[in-house]
Amino acid sequence: MIRDTQGRWLRNLRVSVTDRCNLRCAYCMPEEEYKWLPRDEILHFEEIDRLVDIFITLGVDKVRLTGGEPLLRRDLPRLIRLLAAKPALRDLAITSNGVLLADQAQSLKDAGLHRVTVSLDTLRPDRFRQLTRRETHAEVLEGLAAVGRAGFTDTKIDTVAMRGVNDDELADLIEYGRKVNAEVRFIEYMDVGGATRWSMDKVVSRREILDRLTERYGLITPVVETSTAPADRYRLPDGTVFGIIASTTAPFCADCDRSRLTADGLWYLCLYAQQGTDLRQPLRAGASDDELRALITGGWEARRDRGAEDRLVVRGRSPLLQVERLKRDPHLEMHTRGG
Ligand code: SAM
Repeated sequence: MIRDTQGRWLRNLRVSVTDRCNLRCAYCMPEEEYKWLPRDEILHFEEIDRLVDIFITLGVDKVRLTGGEPLLRRDLPRLIRLLAAKPALRDLAITSNGVLLADQAQSLKDAGLHRVTVSLDTLRPDRFRQLTRRETHAEVLEGLAAVGRAGFTDTKIDTVAMRGVNDDELADLIEYGRKVNAEVRFIEYMDVGGATRWSMDKVVSRREILDRLTERYGLITPVVETSTAPADRYRLPDGTVFGIIASTTAPFCADCDRSRLTADGLWYLCLYAQQGTDLRQPLRAGASDDELRALITGGWEARRDRGAEDRLVVRGRSPLLQVERLKRDPHLEMHTRGG
């Protein structure tokens, strides 16, 4: 187990398995064309497996597969089988946009995946089309239904709440989550990665989400729990639980135990970090496990990042990065870093 300069443990690893995505969400991938990571630089499953083993020896016990859209990665259940065989991983989850889930939910379950989170920002097909520039809303809903049928529990729906886009659907999404047996988590719109059209006035804050839902449902009570999970959880009078990830107005850097591995093996210690550590190069150059462990340990023990908190004090806040900068370094993109 290792701690950074702020006493935060290394526990949680998000592994991006591809930078490609089959949606073009306005807040994440507003451009139509992107420069993709070179194919020969994408980590093989065996390479990911080896790195995860090393991370486990340093304290990681939660892995989340993400992307891009992770279900676009060919033969993903094979990777899941490798990871699910590690008893030290007490949580093995995936974050998906759901488009391909109807076909894949059962094979993901059979491979040993523990949990699924589906990103879904709207229940309205026309809005979905506008927001994602794709026509696959029905597939996402079918995907969510398939997750339940495959026997997954503890399913989550992640919704980025945006003013003037979907902020009139908060209660509808909670009702929908109840129907499909999934807990909804509202994420505050973040000024990170490809969010080049972000502005503070589009952020629907945790305070506002709670006020709106109180108006609709009556008294909302916080769920008391100790966890480093990013979501604060709340209970409606009828017992329904939902979460809010207040990453923009009340960041949780103090408890952040997350780091991120891109599909080509760069390791980032913060969603806002501009630089990562290249693990692929030493891995492919024949570094031993001990050498890779030393590299990771050194990186984590020097970690000072509090990226979201640093943004809080910026006056006249605008998007972190402009499109030209993103084009020069695709590793700065949310779809490369895994969100
Ligand atoms: N394609 C998968 C999906 O849609 O869940 C995984 C990758 S996606 C980058 C991971 C998460 O990041 C999604 O829930 C997405 O909504 C969220 N996300 C992307 N850009 C965001 C932003 N600017 N603010 C808040 N959340 C964002």
